[in-house]
Amino acid sequence: MVHHHIALIPGDGIGAEVLPPAQQVLRHVGRRYGVDFTWTSYDWSCERYLREGAMMPEDGLDQLRDKDAILLGAVGYPGVPDHVSLWGLLIPIRRGFRQYVNLRPIRVFDGVPSPLSGARPGEVDLVVVRENVEGEYGEIGGRLNRGTPEELAVQEAVFTRAGVTRVLEYAFGLARQRGGGVTSATKSNGIVHTMPFWDELVAECGARHPDVGWDQEHIDALAAKFVLEPGRFDVVVASNLFGDILSDLAAAVAGSIGIAPAANLNPERAHPSMFEPVHGSAPDIAGRGTANPLGAIWSAAMMLDHLGHPRAAAEVVGAIAAVLAGTDVRTPDLGGSATTVEFTEALLRHL
Ligand code: ATP
Ligand code: MG
Repeated sequence: MVHHHIALIPGDGIGAEVLPPAQQVLRHVGRRYGVDFTWTSYDWSCERYLREGAMMPEDGLDQLRDKDAILLGAVGYPGVPDHVSLWGLLIPIRRGFRQYVNLRPIRVFDGVPSPLSGARPGEVDLVVVRENVEGEYGEIGGRLNRGTPEELAVQEAVFTRAGVTRVLEYAFGLARQRGGGVTSATKSNGIVHTMPFWDELVAECGARHPDVGWDQEHIDALAAKFVLEPGRFDVVVASNLFGDILSDLAAAVAGSIGIAPAANLNPERAHPSMFEPVHGSAPDIAGRGTANPLGAIWSAAMMLDHLGHPRAAAEVVGAIAAVLAGTDVRTPDLGGSATTVEFTEALLRHL
């Protein structure tokens, strides 16, 4: 029996409704693959912030450090600005645990209509690899001459050779494993310092991996192609900002944000990695018991894969595909009337 200790952060809103289904699925497949789990749950959330003035305690990272992985539901609460949950929880965990790869697989499943005519079921199966700790999202910069005609704001983007190279290496390795190729998102025709540097590092990485094909697209053209021909992409590697935009775009292309999973990986496994559905706390449907648990369940499957159980992970993703293709049990976001619990039961039957 292999044993894993998982930190659970249900968070706010539907976060707390989608994590129990993910735990049930993990327990279920775990039994068959000789994997069992211990869970430690944390009430870190915007609700905690409103009560106690902080998303998590001061020693939060230390409490997580010895866990094998972190499973997060969602954080966000009406009236609490996004930067509170970002800078109070998500960014400290991503940076503190060097989770420099943000991985977002996107598939159009049979039985889930995509909003795009160009995306037929089975044709879209791509992964966005987003640089997760540097790039355009940083604190360097500032504002001058507030309220005057000379007012200005400056925001610096920081790209380091080590930081870019490690995420590129991850993307090329993933493409090899998937038997596919890499597309790099760039904008070196408009951003004249950082993006040419990014392009050079991509070319260097490509030369180190001659068996993996790669190309690059400017982010504007790439966004258009995600809409017009999403089926032609396999691994798409992008900076923090470009990856953020592309992965939300791709999740929308796949039919519902309720399905999309994400992993924040520390590939060296020196620190715990964090797995979370792409969706937020969805206050508009929280408390009804109708949230789609698939994003959380697929995230849990990514966690299984990261913890060294790729066959168990593939079985969960296969069951997701089978339920969507073979039954009409779906939550309301996918046009059905099943509750979270009913849908989870249907999935467990397929497992
Ligand atoms: P937050 O502030 O936490 O990011 P949000 O409302 O900005 O929350 P999401 O929670 O991502 O953003 O919700 C966007 C829309 O998608 C909402 O209408 C929500 O109801 C819907 N939605 C998101 N996740 C799910 C899900 N798992 N199942 C069903 N609908 C969902
Ligand atoms: Mg939101």
